[in-house]
Amino acid sequence: MSLIVHKYGGTSVGTIERIEAVADRVSAAQRAGNDIVVVVSAMSGETNRLLGLASELSERPSSREMDVLLSTGEQVTIALLSMALHKRGIPAVSMTGSQVKIETDSAFSKARIERIDADNIRSELAQGRVVVVAGFQGVDPKGNITTLGRGGSDTTAVALAAALSADECQIYTDVDGVYTTDPRVCEGARRLDKITFEEMLELASQGSKVLQIRSVEFAGKYNVPLRVLSSFKDGPGTLITLDQEEDMEKPIVSGIAFTRDEAKLVVRGVPDQPGVAANVLVPISEANIEVDVIVQNQGINNTTDFSFTVARRDMEAAIDVLNGVVERLGAAGVESDDRIAKVSIVGVGMRSHAGVAAKMFSALAADNINIQLITTSEIKTCVVIDERYMELAVRALHSAFELSGSKHSV
Ligand code: ASP
Ligand code: MG
Repeated sequence: MSLIVHKYGGTSVGTIERIEAVADRVSAAQRAGNDIVVVVSAMSGETNRLLGLASELSERPSSREMDVLLSTGEQVTIALLSMALHKRGIPAVSMTGSQVKIETDSAFSKARIERIDADNIRSELAQGRVVVVAGFQGVDPKGNITTLGRGGSDTTAVALAAALSADECQIYTDVDGVYTTDPRVCEGARRLDKITFEEMLELASQGSKVLQIRSVEFAGKYNVPLRVLSSFKDGPGTLITLDQEEDMEKPIVSGIAFTRDEAKLVVRGVPDQPGVAANVLVPISEANIEVDVIVQNQGINNTTDFSFTVARRDMEAAIDVLNGVVERLGAAGVESDDRIAKVSIVGVGMRSHAGVAAKMFSALAADNINIQLITTSEIKTCVVIDERYMELAVRALHSAFELSGSKHSV
């Protein structure tokens, strides 16, 4: 007998009909002889609806009350799904985060899980029940309800799977697995049977939206086998694991991620001396703005140019900060561009193969796509380009690295 954690996202539980379909799937898995814990999100659109209500009422609602409000979405789903299971003759019990005892810190709206008391769930499972847990929520040491950040139900599922030493954590969603790239952008995109945590983490942080980044980190840290599957059609999905296949056919590049969510900033003519990078970037981080791709270049006359990207929504705030920096350091000025896209190729095979980045640059050049910034890690090469060419770039790279077919470039 296996212990399996299922997680269903908002779309999968978006209507009563869909909740019934989830109940069918859960029933079948339990009748097959497994212990099942189900983690659910709020019905699709519900979290946004609740956010909307709060913002109608107040510009700065109390963060504690915000979490009380947002946690209700998941509470609705656990009750409805439990009822649907009862209707099928399956003993099921719903639990909120605090009933399980998912202990978090007190950072409302972005709380981190600190400890999970798995005993309550274990004793329910021992009595033959399916346990239906509200995702995205926990309880702090003072008993306050907390939430884990948008998309946080994935993290709940993985954390529960780790705490229960589950055999697998299955994330059911509206796509049937992790793809080489987004099929809406590239027709030839192909579902991957397997991918490593490392690769998944890079893909997620470079723009792939299949899984919440934190849930992948967590799964990797505790080595929880994670599988992404469709809640609408049967199939093997994509398994995310620690082990790297010793497979000669293993592709060098596993996937291509992209995002339009960033903007580029350039600070020109900064006097070049020790501490420049800190002088430019510390004020940015103090303003709570996260920086991504960073490039520093030697300019003329002992000056240096600094380029980096930030989330698009943070661009105006970053410009304000940088105008102050320019004045203080006597730099030449700030330029900004929010019409950029970031495209990344990711693959553990890049570690052992030379020339992968060069191949990427050649493929982009062949399509006349200009590269503005480049950054690399051991298993990733990322370029910043004009957003108008993003889709073209993704398709060009998908074909250059032969990701569509069964044959892989070596
Ligand atoms: N309901 C929450 C959200 O929409 C959590 C989740 O769906 O995972 O972000
Ligand atoms: Mg979700």
